[in-house]
Amino acid sequence: MEDKAHALMRKMVPNIYLPYPASIDNVKEETPDIRTFSLSFTDREMRDHFTFRPGQFILVSVFNCGEAPISISSSPTSSAIFELSIKKVGSLTGEIHRYNTGDEMGVRGPYGNGFPLERLYGSDLLFVGGGIGLAPLRSMIQYVFARRSEFGRITILYGARSPEDIVFKEDLAGWEEEKDARVLITLDKRDRPWKGATGPVTRLWQETDVDPSSTKAIVCGPPVMISYVVFDLLKMGFAEDDIISTVERNMKCGVGKCGHCSIGSKFTCIHGPVFTYREMKEMPSVL
Ligand SMILES: Cc1cc2nc3c(=O)[nH]c(=O)nc-3n(C[C@H](O)[C@H](O)[C@H](O)COP(=O)(O)OP(=O)(O)OC[C@H]3O[C@@H](n4cnc5c(N)ncnc54)[C@H](O)[C@@H]3O)c2cc1C
Repeated sequence: MEDKAHALMRKMVPNIYLPYPASIDNVKEETPDIRTFSLSFTDREMRDHFTFRPGQFILVSVFNCGEAPISISSSPTSSAIFELSIKKVGSLTGEIHRYNTGDEMGVRGPYGNGFPLERLYGSDLLFVGGGIGLAPLRSMIQYVFARRSEFGRITILYGARSPEDIVFKEDLAGWEEEKDARVLITLDKRDRPWKGATGPVTRLWQETDVDPSSTKAIVCGPPVMISYVVFDLLKMGFAEDDIISTVERNMKCGVGKCGHCSIGSKFTCIHGPVFTYREMKEMPSVL
């Protein structure tokens, strides 16, 4: 067992690479390959002091697999329990999908800059998400609805492959009921029970009524979707600083030491993952 001097030393000189155990309080199956894990730190002090900004990520560690960056998908307005929505794509995410309520995983962070809240207060917000890209947006959307009077009109556009691939179904239905909010969903392919829109998320512009002079757009999804959406937003008259998106790069340390996620002079882990279009267009091969 750790002695007192050791514990004190660890608090005074924290190891930036040290994961802390967090236990799984709930597992929710969102889609056949995406699950949302509700977590809380087992250490009471960590649990009481953990805080983050919407758009930040943490590094999840799994014994024998390593670490992976995952966005926090819940709002900081209730941070004692935080949520991670994880798509099963490979070894580490596959292992996490075996976890059940009561299991533990390692967590360090939060990392990254998060969404620029100070610049978003008072504005209308247009969220455009694709697939699992709705995860970081959900954190911001929940935050906005928890502090409703501080933001203007909210428009949420979401694209998924099929009805089974729609994440956060109850949230999407609930957001639609919020004051001054609209939610529009489109699917890649037409499916029998689906009576809504089909086609890429940009197909929803025709049903969207936003004023580029008072709106900030926040976009997250597959890189090809981001490129098309940003292109259209610029054509609509959005200012380059009012288009905010995320850049996904393979990461290792998460704290700007190893250089794995560098793009030009920027490190995605500390300068990002959130960037404005003005910043992104200066970064080689991002858009
Ligand atoms: C800042 C940031 C936030 C992220 N947030 C989330 C999140 O909220 N939810 C979530 O499910 N995933 C998120 N990811 C992606 C996640 O980190 C990867 O899916 C994960 O590292 C894959 O690990 P693995 O060992 O399971 O897959 P691996 O065995 O390493 O790879 C399996 C396959 O997935 C591909 N892959 C690996 N990493 C990525 C990646 N970053 N993007 C796309 N494809 C990848 C590989 O090319 C390979 O084809 C985020 C990534 C970043 C950089």
